[in-house]
Amino acid sequence: MTEQLRCVLCRQTYPVGEVRYECDCHGLLAVEHPPAAWQGVDTELFDSRQRGSAEIDLSGVWRFREVVRALPPAAIITHPEGATRLYARAALCRYAGLESLHFKHEGENPTGSFKDRGMTVATSQAVAQGATAVACASTGNTSAALAAYAARAGLQALVFLPAGKVALGKMAQTLAYGARCFAVRGDFDAAMRLVTDVCRTLGVHLLNSKNPFRIEGQKTIVWEILQNLAWDPPDWIAVPAGNLGNTSAFGKAIEEAVAAGWIKRAPRLLAVQATGANPFYLSYAAGFRTRHRVQADTIATAIRIGDPVSFDKARAAIEYTRGVVTEVTDPELMAAKRMIDQSGLGCEPASACSLAGVRKMVAAGVIARGERVVCVLTGNLMKDPDAVLEELPGVASVAKPVEIEPTLDAVRALLAPGGRPG
Ligand SMILES: *Cc1c(COP(=O)(O)O)cnc(C)c1O
Ligand SMILES: [Zn+2]
Repeated sequence: MTEQLRCVLCRQTYPVGEVRYECDCHGLLAVEHPPAAWQGVDTELFDSRQRGSAEIDLSGVWRFREVVRALPPAAIITHPEGATRLYARAALCRYAGLESLHFKHEGENPTGSFKDRGMTVATSQAVAQGATAVACASTGNTSAALAAYAARAGLQALVFLPAGKVALGKMAQTLAYGARCFAVRGDFDAAMRLVTDVCRTLGVHLLNSKNPFRIEGQKTIVWEILQNLAWDPPDWIAVPAGNLGNTSAFGKAIEEAVAAGWIKRAPRLLAVQATGANPFYLSYAAGFRTRHRVQADTIATAIRIGDPVSFDKARAAIEYTRGVVTEVTDPELMAAKRMIDQSGLGCEPASACSLAGVRKMVAAGVIARGERVVCVLTGNLMKDPDAVLEELPGVASVAKPVEIEPTLDAVRALLAPGGRPG
C-alpha cells in the first residue's frame, strides 16, 4: 500500500507516481496516506528520533516520514531542514496582550524560510519520478529553496520572479545556488500562470505549493510545534497567508494529528494577510460565498499575491479548525517586525503578520488574554535588508549609522548626556 493523490473537489484519485498537479476537473490534489501508514507511528517514535543522529531523523520533516512521503531513505534529498526552535519573549507577550505566546522560528531553516520543508519533499518526489529539471514561480523564498535543493540533487532549476519585486537576500541566494532566473514583466500571479504553461509543455516538474508534496512537508511545522510543546496543543496557531499553501498544510496537519490521536483537541488557525494583498480575508469576511482576486501590493513581498493557488484547501483548513482570517496594514506589520527584531529574534516583513494579527485579535476580543498562542515566523531577518531601513508613518525607524572621526571625543559627544552609554 502506498499514498495516492485525491482531488479536494470531486474526490477522484490518481496514483502517487503520476506527474500531475491538478485533477481533470482542475481541483487541487492532496496526498492521502493509506491507513497502514498510521499504524505504529506515534509521538514516542517521533520523540525518540529527535535523539538520533541520522540525517533523516535530525530533519524536522523526515522525522515524520511515514506520514509525509514513504520514500526509500536513499531517495531523500535533505539538507536537513526543520528542527527549528520555539521562543518565548516577555516583551512580545506584552505587545500582543497575552500571557503565553511562543514563536516558531522558521527563519532558522537552511535557506532561511519554511519553504525548505516543502521543497525537500517535492524535490525528493521529483527525483523519484525521474525529473531532470524543476521550476517555480516565486516571490523569492520558494526560488531560494528550490535552487538549493535542485543544486543538492543535481537538477536544472528554472525560477520565474516578478521583475523588481523580489527582496535582495532572496535574489542573491537564488543566483548563488545556480538557478536560471527569469524576471517576468508582471506580478507573481502572472509568473505563476507562465510557469504552469512552461511545466505543462516542456516537461519540467512544477515545485510550487500546488504540488501536493510541498504541503506534506509543510505540515511538519505544526507537528514540530506540538512536539516542542510536549504534545499539549496551543489554543491558536497564527500564520501569515499569501498563496495559502501553509494555511492549507496547517489544516491538514491538525486534522491528521487529531485523527491519529496525537492530540485531543484541534488548535484554531489564525491566517493573517496584508491589507494590500487580502483576497482570502475578503472571501472569509463574506462567509466564503465568493472567491476574491485582487491586484496585490504590500511591503511584505513574500505575501504579495492577489490570486492564491491553494484557496480551496485553505478555506477547508479555516472551517475545520474554526479558524479566523484577518488583515493587517503595512505600518501594523512593520511595527510588529520592529518589536520582533528588537527582541533579538528578527524576521522578514511578511513573517511579522502573525504577531500583528494576534495583537489585533486580542484587542478585538477574538483571542482571550489567557489563551496559549504560537506565532509562526516564516522567514529570516536577512532575507529583506532593505525593509530594515524603510521609513513608514507611525513606525519607529532604526537608528542609522553615524559617521565619525576615529576619536574618543567624537564618541563621547554623541553619547549624550554626560558622554556615557545608556
Ligand atoms: C511563502 C511565504 C509566506 C506565505 O506562505 P503561503 O504558503 O504562500 O501562504 C509567508 N512568509 C514567508 C516568509 C514566505 O516565504
Ligand atoms: Zn476533481
